[in-house]
Amino acid sequence: MTASIISGTEIAKQTRSQLAKEVAQLREEGVAPGLVIILVGDNPASLSYIKGKRKASEEIGIDFKLEQFPESLSEEDLLRVIDSYNEDSRFHGILVQLPLPKHIDEIAVIEKISPEKDVDGFHPVNLGRMLTGQKCFLSCTPAGIMEMLRIKGVDPAGKHAVVVGRSNIVGKPVGQLLLKENATVSYCHSRTRDLSSITKQADILVVAAGKANLITGNDIKPGAVVIDVGMNRNEHGKLCGDVAFDEAKEVASLITPVPGGVGPMTITMLAYNTVEAAKKTRS
Ligand code: NDP
Repeated sequence: MTASIISGTEIAKQTRSQLAKEVAQLREEGVAPGLVIILVGDNPASLSYIKGKRKASEEIGIDFKLEQFPESLSEEDLLRVIDSYNEDSRFHGILVQLPLPKHIDEIAVIEKISPEKDVDGFHPVNLGRMLTGQKCFLSCTPAGIMEMLRIKGVDPAGKHAVVVGRSNIVGKPVGQLLLKENATVSYCHSRTRDLSSITKQADILVVAAGKANLITGNDIKPGAVVIDVGMNRNEHGKLCGDVAFDEAKEVASLITPVPGGVGPMTITMLAYNTVEAAKKTRS
């Protein structure tokens, strides 16, 4: 069996064109959705992610602002900046680009963002709302994964979903969203024994470990749906996922590539959250 490819690029394009229509409508009603990204330092990977976020925002018609500070910015000053954007009605979404310099407490920063503007969905209020099934901003990567599954007609109900990775921004929330859609969910992590014996049981396998080639063709159940979140550089400096794609596509029924899979959907869901935040401000 050769798997069908889930093109995140294609699905993102369709979603963005729908969002552009919604933004045009909002603008007619006098609401111009705005997103501010706050960057401390000049980490090249962060700058590259921000470039993608800017492009998507501009394509959709969202007002985009990058607020960049030197690496030496104090935590106190950063919290003050966030506060000023919490009060600024031109910006419906605030994103603080991670990672932050070591002298700044990431949790304090995330908690400072108003939950109503937390378009990354990292604030404990939004995570708690997600956990209890309430309306909230979902973190972008998990939301993008669920949207891809929905569009591809993959219903998680009754299926065994295995998530490799338990980070707060990807692994944990995507498992919860799969659970909400009635999958039976297993989490794997670096302390899991005999990873392969568990991943081989997955009808839906989500891999978010950040380890190139962690999952090979032998670790996948024939016909499984495989979502590869990983973003790694191989020995030639080329972007690759956590799944050995060429082998895996011979076993899976549906699979996301890297690049062109989860990445474009993550950025698109950020735009989606920003538009949702703007909609809430309509009188
Ligand atoms: P983290 O490093 O925060 O988490 C990695 C998780 O993988 C941890 O839970 C860790 O376990 C687990 N893990 C590590 N090694 C193994 C192993 N050998 N076997 C089983 N589990 C393992 O990463 P993130 O969740 O932030 O990101 C994961 C990957 O996804 C990265 O490559 C990142 O670049 C990418 N990413 C891609 C995005 C996109 O838009 N495409 C968005 C966000 C992330 P433990 O908890 O025990 O340490």
